Amino acid sequence: MPCAEGSETCGKNGMLMKKRVLIVDDSTLVHEIFGSILTEAGFEVLHAEDGLKAINTAFSEMPDLILLDVWMPKINGYQVCRLLKDHSATKDIPVVIITSQEKKGFVADPRKWSFQTGANGYLSKEESERLIPTVQIFLAGDRVREKPHGYYEPMTENEILSALSRLLDKQLYVDVTRLKELDERKNAFVANVSHEFKSPLAIIQGFLENLNDGFYGPVSDPQKEVIQIGLKTAKRLNRLVHDMLDLSQIEAGKMKMANEKVDLADVVKSVAESFSVETGRKKMAVHLEIEPGELALWGDKDRLTQVVINLFSNAVKYTPEEKSITVRISREADRIRMEIEDTGPGIPPENLEKIFDKFERLEAERQEGTGLGLPIARDIVKLHGGRMRVESEVGKGSKFIVLLPVGVAAA
Ligand code: ADP
Repeated sequence: MPCAEGSETCGKNGMLMKKRVLIVDDSTLVHEIFGSILTEAGFEVLHAEDGLKAINTAFSEMPDLILLDVWMPKINGYQVCRLLKDHSATKDIPVVIITSQEKKGFVADPRKWSFQTGANGYLSKEESERLIPTVQIFLAGDRVREKPHGYYEPMTENEILSALSRLLDKQLYVDVTRLKELDERKNAFVANVSHEFKSPLAIIQGFLENLNDGFYGPVSDPQKEVIQIGLKTAKRLNRLVHDMLDLSQIEAGKMKMANEKVDLADVVKSVAESFSVETGRKKMAVHLEIEPGELALWGDKDRLTQVVINLFSNAVKYTPEEKSITVRISREADRIRMEIEDTGPGIPPENLEKIFDKFERLEAERQEGTGLGLPIARDIVKLHGGRMRVESEVGKGSKFIVLLPVGVAAA
């Protein structure tokens, strides 16, 4: 039977030799089926039944191509591929990943993942009729087969695993550096865009306020209604812009923190006062349980006020009319404990951590907001060396607990 195109190669002595394909799979059936198709087409077939043998055979035999299964015990195909592609001796051996449809493993898109690990091709085991054409693509043209110099000492499993771990560390370093770079660029972009929004927004807001106040002539009631909607929207956008600026500053490590003596009890009282119209309108009872004695700490008063505003405004926003909000402040050794407890809808256990993620909004359809208030509040608390967490019971309410170290005055 004539050999398939591309199934022969030139040995060092100029003789034509069969090209060698290494099949790596833990299923004997795959070895039998793929092996016989390849042998019939004129290829020489080598076999390895796990990742460890695959690596050792690749180094000792230098096959012309490797067909590599993914899910094998100990070392999987993706890891084998990464190792071979990272080594100068084996990086040019074409690797075709072979997978079966029903054994996808943890990877959502095995084809994409195969290429990301450095594989040259991808073949589904169900498409055995594509085996020879696929192999031919990578074996086209003559390549003088370079056998390794001298005797190749097989690597032990431990040696391979530690090589793999070094490789993954290296890869992680590259990935993390790149992610950091992208993150920095994204932060700069968000900061620029938010900054550019600020002035035009202030101008629009100013004009609307003047219009509303009758500065440009009498305003009818229906016109006032429309202006109010415009003002409300501009204010909302303004809040979003400020939140995004704050967050990009925090993430870039550029948020400047003052170090002043802050009386947290005073902060809480003035925030509660500033919400009195809203809490009054909702007929809410606001209880301030402030422990006697000094409740001061060293930090940034404006930023700490922002934390209290974000938590208190959420409590007001998410608590229904005629219910209550309680704020407690006490001293615990060298820190101040603040609790803001509401009697609102509560937060389901599976969402307790999620709500601190950027743009996460569980009540999005019902209440206005940006989904940035909590992440900013938690970051500011962290910048003060403190911690924030939430306890909640659905149907009963939520309690946000903030622990802030008293800190020391700047030298
Ligand atoms: P938002 O601007 O949407 O209020 P936040 O970051 O402050 O953004 O809050 C994120 C989400 O957490 C809210 O959309 C809401 O689903 C939930 N949440 C925050 N505070 C409370 C609370 N006191 N009670 C119930 N859910 C809350």
